[in-house]
Amino acid sequence: MLKYDVIVVGAGGAGMMAALYASKDKNLRVACLSKIFPTRSHTGAAQGGINAAMGYRDATDSPEKHFRDTVKGSDFLADQDAVEYFTANMPAIISELDYYGVPFSRDPNGRIAQRPFGGASSPRTCYSADKTGHVILHALYEQCLKNNVEFLDEWFLLSLVVADETFHGLVAMNIKTGEIHPFLAKAVVIATGGFGRIYWNRTTNAINMTGDGTAACFNAGIPLKDPEFVQFHPTGLASTGILLSEACRGEGGYLINREGERFMKRYAPEKMELAPRDLVSRSIEMEIKAGRGFGQGLEAYVLMDLRHLGKEKIMERLPQVRELAMDFEGVDLIEEPVPIRPSCHYMMGGIHVSDYATLATPVEGIHAAGECACVSIHGANRLGGNSVADVVLFGKYAGIGARESAKKRPFGLETLVIKEAKKWESKFATMRNKTSGIRLVDIRNKMAEVMWNYVGIFRHEQEMRVALETIDQLLNDYEHAYIGDPALRYNTAFVHYVEIGNLLTLAKAVVLGAINRKESRGSHARADYPQRDDENFLKHTLIYKRGDRYELKYLPVKITKYPPEERKY
Ligand SMILES: Cc1cc2nc3c(=O)[nH]c(=O)nc-3n(C[C@H](O)[C@H](O)[C@H](O)COP(=O)(O)OP(=O)(O)OC[C@H]3O[C@@H](n4cnc5c(N)ncnc54)[C@H](O)[C@@H]3O)c2cc1C
Repeated sequence: MLKYDVIVVGAGGAGMMAALYASKDKNLRVACLSKIFPTRSHTGAAQGGINAAMGYRDATDSPEKHFRDTVKGSDFLADQDAVEYFTANMPAIISELDYYGVPFSRDPNGRIAQRPFGGASSPRTCYSADKTGHVILHALYEQCLKNNVEFLDEWFLLSLVVADETFHGLVAMNIKTGEIHPFLAKAVVIATGGFGRIYWNRTTNAINMTGDGTAACFNAGIPLKDPEFVQFHPTGLASTGILLSEACRGEGGYLINREGERFMKRYAPEKMELAPRDLVSRSIEMEIKAGRGFGQGLEAYVLMDLRHLGKEKIMERLPQVRELAMDFEGVDLIEEPVPIRPSCHYMMGGIHVSDYATLATPVEGIHAAGECACVSIHGANRLGGNSVADVVLFGKYAGIGARESAKKRPFGLETLVIKEAKKWESKFATMRNKTSGIRLVDIRNKMAEVMWNYVGIFRHEQEMRVALETIDQLLNDYEHAYIGDPALRYNTAFVHYVEIGNLLTLAKAVVLGAINRKESRGSHARADYPQRDDENFLKHTLIYKRGDRYELKYLPVKITKYPPEERKY
């Protein structure tokens, strides 16, 4: 049986930072398991940058200002003790990444360059042209190899084994061979990224962002915190939803409606395009609704204009963004404005983390970090550049937390993990042999349609009730799905089948959280409850799964310094 002291599931920024820190104890055997090759993880898509109050571009910047901006950006739902810890520790993390060899762009004095980002009162986003996440992943991969982390590439987490609130191990499939393996581990870090694919093709997320670790924790009894808070990035390319980085607004891009007007002056007269994402996304949709967009229905859009920046600046700061716009929208942004529309981008909610210093969840031995986790530092709306920062910082502390858990805990029970693996073997055999049933693609498309139409940027109880009924029906259909591929090796149809099951499980939690939050806060905009309601909803949602039943509870928000106030930009 495969046995490790610490297993990290996920090899993005959070997973590799956790694996690196767990492996700093040479007496521990550490594995990092990933369904795709580590450096292809989604962190690699992060173009814009990573926030830390280095004060290089603006000497008046400070961790305190970063703290205040993050709390305001979160619409006061973030836990302020965790945010303060995060912003205070970020400058040291940037120096650490610099030391590992991350090639940050430099200012004329040779210091790490910083650019402005939405919702920030100073330019504090450190970057490496528009390839920040990509270079961080490569540097962390090298460091992990140096530290003898064992990488299990193209291995797929199926489930966690938890009995009587005790963690025993996990079950994963080697995608290459089709073999299903039980694993024993003393501690695990779940770092499997977000689940934007509940909106399937109206998202900036890659095809593999399906929330597998989040669903595994949820199924194992760990609650989801604040799943209703879904970030819609204002600038997805109009025809594909692919991201046009926030760096475009950061570098001075204009948002223009059909009348040629910079419409943000109506919604955020001071910050204009650099208002936070929730506000800019809603403003774009309002322009479209008011008939000042281009096109109709799902095809509607507004424009991002970068031409005034000039060719030289665009080629220096945004070369990859330009290529993306040419490849996926057929537009050279040096010559023409690019059609854009909001697209699902990020999950503020996720696996409930009960201790921000160790990233422990309520089940001892299970830690969670990165986009899959909810600490919560982003509250109801994340600021651009704060996720890669969250990922590396809390990845580090999850690695340390898991290392300490592993030193305290014995291995779990072999019989339990073997039993769970046998269940999956039987499921795999059944699905390979099935020759008819409901097509997965139909289930997936229906889920995305109701989520986008009824649980998107603007929400209303009646519509969300329709979405809930539909998701319940789809969960039922899923029991009758077939995959149409009998292969043992590289059966990606089976992997996709498990992923769709995970997405449906999580989509239902998003809808339930959204229906029950009868207020508008951050990214959660209710047409039927347009005001923020601190008296009744200044609290985190916690959703538990007991068998097929979902149960809602609430948890107070930790407010240490900044009492809620009206959020103006
Ligand atoms: C296009 C785009 C641009 C962005 N730009 C920025 C930016 O400029 N700045 C910023 O702060 N944020 C940005 N973000 C957000 C940020 O990049 C992500 O939130 C963050 O990188 C997530 O990192 P992670 O380590 O949590 O997960 P990921 O990097 O997504 O890694 C997830 C890992 O989990 C593994 N995994 C998943 N499921 C399984 C399974 N079942 N079995 C085994 N392994 C599994 C995957 O293989 C992968 O290795 C951007 C997001 C997108 C989509």
